[in-house]
Amino acid sequence: MMGATLVARPGNPARAAETRGSQPAQNETKHIYLSEFEPKSMLQVPETKIERAKFPVIDIHTHLSFSAVNKKGVPVSEKMKFLAKPSDVLAVMDRRNIRTLVDLTGGFGQGLVDTVKEFHHPHPDRFLVLTEPWYPRSNQPGYAQLQADAIEKAYQAGARGLKLLKTLGLYLRENITSGPLVKLDDRRFDPMWEACGSLGIPVLMHTADPDAFFLPTNRFNERFEELNNHPDWSFYGSDYPSKRELLDARNRVYARHPRTQFVGLHVANHGEDLADVSELLDRLPNVHVETAARLNELGRQPRNARKFFDKYQDRIMFGTDAVPPPYGNVTPQQVFGDKLYQIYCRFFETEDEFFDYAPAPTPPQGRWQISGIGLPDSILKKVYYENAARLFKIQI
Ligand SMILES: [Zn+2]
Repeated sequence: MMGATLVARPGNPARAAETRGSQPAQNETKHIYLSEFEPKSMLQVPETKIERAKFPVIDIHTHLSFSAVNKKGVPVSEKMKFLAKPSDVLAVMDRRNIRTLVDLTGGFGQGLVDTVKEFHHPHPDRFLVLTEPWYPRSNQPGYAQLQADAIEKAYQAGARGLKLLKTLGLYLRENITSGPLVKLDDRRFDPMWEACGSLGIPVLMHTADPDAFFLPTNRFNERFEELNNHPDWSFYGSDYPSKRELLDARNRVYARHPRTQFVGLHVANHGEDLADVSELLDRLPNVHVETAARLNELGRQPRNARKFFDKYQDRIMFGTDAVPPPYGNVTPQQVFGDKLYQIYCRFFETEDEFFDYAPAPTPPQGRWQISGIGLPDSILKKVYYENAARLFKIQI
């Protein structure tokens, strides 16, 4: 019986078979490294090239700026780093019919003011900026009110919403970078959620991560290569809560603040389980979702995903998690550029089958391909811009 065994650990001796030619003799097993395995699909199916989105797009999930000083996953200074200039990204946006980018990680305090000045002020229709919590002060007395006031000030300075990275739940600790993890539904944040509700600005939350990131990095893990390459992306073990605990705490926050509009980023971080996301959306009308960096999940269950888009067509928004190069290069599924938008539009607009969800030699978020969901125009418009325009109160 001939066969090939895939190995991922360097130093496996079984290369002898290769030296005897490409066809191993009967009963011999040929070994190649998993990292070298780049199968080329023999499937011949139609490929639709989408050069431009059919309708204007608001990409509600991008990162054009980032906190400049981070310690153990927590931004500890107001200082910002800009990952691109507006002129670096506008040409791609114009070519692909991307009307507006929402820069989620706009910072807090002076950092937020600087980010708004850099992106939103010169091009108010093309860039929106969100603010972030003032975590370095989260262990100080009076933080709850200070944070609510900071949201109000950020809003006056031009912020159009609040963004939370997975910092809350997975990195922020009682003494900022040490001590027990701060719980997602900690009461000290209640005035912050309420301030967003009062101002009528949405809260966009990244909570937890893919299911596989909470499981051991072993041969049964469907994201083995990714976690093996980035061990710090694993939240298995240590003092991390389970993924279910994180999602439940997040959902309690959503439920406790019904007049605040929440967006569960990355398909509420449960694209693997659309039934679970559906349960959440059915239960809480103030919750919305977006698609960033989850085409791999949606596109491996295109029929299920299509039904999900039919049912929740008024609450799903276009997002990519785009990060400009070279910063985005480590995650090819989200490098800002023409290719990224071509792939997203192909997924939404066509019923093409079995294509790559990222411009990379091997699929970076699990070794599989995706199929498109071919949304009709009425739903496509909602997902591309109508739902986001309503949430951010902008005209398109
Ligand atoms: Zn993101």
